[in-house]
Amino acid sequence: MKRGKRPNWMLNIAKERMDILFSLAEKEFIEYPERSHRYVELARKISTKYNVKIPLKWNRRYCKNCYKFLFPGHNSTIRLINGEVNIICGECGHIMKIPYIKEKKLKRRAKIDSYKKRDNE
Ligand SMILES: [Zn+2]
Repeated sequence: MKRGKRPNWMLNIAKERMDILFSLAEKEFIEYPERSHRYVELARKISTKYNVKIPLKWNRRYCKNCYKFLFPGHNSTIRLINGEVNIICGECGHIMKIPYIKEKKLKRRAKIDSYKKRDNE
């Protein structure tokens, strides 16, 4: 297939698929953690292939270092330290630090984006 910008409907399908994959990962994690990690891998492949970001909702649910699915309370710990959200990967020990202020900003931006999208449709 051609590289470059894909039509919008294709990008929407890509987003939808990633959402489904992460939902499945969450659902099956307790019983089949290996499947969950595989779903993350597939979602990441979609993300790079179509050049679309992993949905914000799921962005913190995988490790940025070993790319395994993270399930808080099972293989990851979330702590608030000095105004930062620290997500600790229980698989490789990687710590993802997210400033809390940025988090608020991102949320606001996502809201604005969703409004924009609605206007375009
Ligand atoms: Zn990790």
